[in-house]
Amino acid sequence: MNIFKFGGASVNSADGVRNFVKIVQSYREETIIVLSAMGKTTNALEEIVEAFFNKNDQDSKLLAVKQYHLSIVNELFPKKEDAVYEKIEVLFNQLSQYLEKEPSLCFEFEYDQIVSFGELISTTIVSEFLRLSGRPNKWVDIRTCLKTDDTYKEGRIDWKLSEKLVSQTFSFNSTFVYITQGFIGGTKTNQTTTLGREGSDYSAAILSYILDADKLAIWKDVPGIMNADPKWLPDAQKLERITYQEAIELAFYGAKVIHPKTIQPIKKKKIPLQVRSFLDLNESGTLISTASKKLDYLLPVYIQKKDQVLISIRPIDFSFILEEKLSSLFSLFAKHRVKVNLIQNSAISFSVCVDNSDRRLKELIEEISIDFEVKYNDDLELITIRHHNQEAVERMTKGREILLEQRSRDTAQFVLV
Ligand code: ASP
Ligand code: MG
Repeated sequence: MNIFKFGGASVNSADGVRNFVKIVQSYREETIIVLSAMGKTTNALEEIVEAFFNKNDQDSKLLAVKQYHLSIVNELFPKKEDAVYEKIEVLFNQLSQYLEKEPSLCFEFEYDQIVSFGELISTTIVSEFLRLSGRPNKWVDIRTCLKTDDTYKEGRIDWKLSEKLVSQTFSFNSTFVYITQGFIGGTKTNQTTTLGREGSDYSAAILSYILDADKLAIWKDVPGIMNADPKWLPDAQKLERITYQEAIELAFYGAKVIHPKTIQPIKKKKIPLQVRSFLDLNESGTLISTASKKLDYLLPVYIQKKDQVLISIRPIDFSFILEEKLSSLFSLFAKHRVKVNLIQNSAISFSVCVDNSDRRLKELIEEISIDFEVKYNDDLELITIRHHNQEAVERMTKGREILLEQRSRDTAQFVLV
């Protein structure tokens, strides 16, 4: 059995949905399709959540989301009596009724109740169009079986319960193709949750794990995983084959390839993951699997993080920075939820590179300044090179001021002005 995850960009127009159907039609195996919201719908719904709380303009924003979907539906379904029209109307009515009530005090809860409509709507349209194109399929409301706790906006999976319910739901007894939503789940008491932005990859990985899929394919608008973002380095090359470990490392250092949580579940069961293009079916994509002799020679991989801040911390009394001081510093970072991208420490100073995440960072620096002298530089760039060589390092650093540098056998990192 295959699991396919299609992102929002693959179904952002009627042509996109037709292309999707063409791909699905070319497979004869049992398949589960995990789908995101169409195009930029999640962003638009996030704006609706803001408007819901601020009581401004939510109706016009909702209308725009509805018109966008209806324009796709109108193009795909010429017969106005097709069941899809009714189904979409029901979903939009539910959403607009929801928006009429007073928001509760929990922003995260309201966020999940509203933003989840993107996936419910996209899967409904695509499932109906696949049926119309001669491919029967079953639409599954994933909230009934992918169970999470009530950490809204970042739902944590209840593995035991989900394993049971997901296996029952996707039994392949009377159907060959299922279509379901990525990104969303449900609590035990059937409240809707989401798994974090871009979480559909993770949803697909969870289903692959539970159902022992033969293969997971993530269909994207790029040829595969590249050794740099091609918008940044136009000569970026595709990586043919990498290990799970390498994929985790790349996600950790900030490569925006797949959702960082995606790899763990499929690694545990050694399920191969193919990242491939929905635009070019002849392109084989990148295969992520266990190590093999056929692995690529290790091309340097370049990862760029902008808007970085380098913070240098030293005790006011010039004492050494030892374990206790380090642990109290780290707990401050954790408390303010500032993610550390790079650390370097010497006898009397400690430097960290972090994302410039405005308010949280200011509060953190204020608190550290009570016991330490703190200096910082902002507007920096952090460049990570996996599998670095001299040429790669020169390419990234030539003519630039290096504030901090760190090299291990596999990874070199530079904080640059
Ligand atoms: N639609 C959600 C988002 O845009 C989930 C996803 O695409 O993976 O974040
Ligand atoms: Mg997306």
